[in-house]
Amino acid sequence: MEDCLFCKIVKGEIPSQIVYEDDEILAFNDISPQAPVHILVVPKKHIISLAHITKEDETLIGKIYGVINKLSDEKGFKQDGYRVITNCGENAGQTVKHLHFHVLAGKKLGEKIV
Ligand code: 5GP
Ligand code: ZN
Repeated sequence: MEDCLFCKIVKGEIPSQIVYEDDEILAFNDISPQAPVHILVVPKKHIISLAHITKEDETLIGKIYGVINKLSDEKGFKQDGYRVITNCGENAGQTVKHLHFHVLAGKKLGEKIV
């Protein structure tokens, strides 16, 4: 999608620090990290939010969690633990309208709200 920030990152039009890539998924460091590890994992396909996935995207979402599991192992934060957050829509404060999974690790994370 032309005017989408994360589509531009996927296409390499905006630089990012890539930590994982395959034909369907890209993971890169958040520009404004909220923890020592703050990775964004996105489908390369433009999907606006979790509210916009279809049945055929469900395998892809599963693969995203597989990538997160692999990254936690490779980057050494699997054992101490981490948090995965997906903001969906207005009430959650989603700012970039391209589905993404925040992966936060490397410190004791702030208060749980759920
Ligand atoms: P949201 O608030 O939509 O859940 O999260 C959007 C995230 O994208 C924020 O954590 C923000 O720091 C990150 N972000 C915004 N612009 C850029 C950018 O140009 N590059 C990278 N790597 N992250 C960005
Ligand atoms: Zn997009």
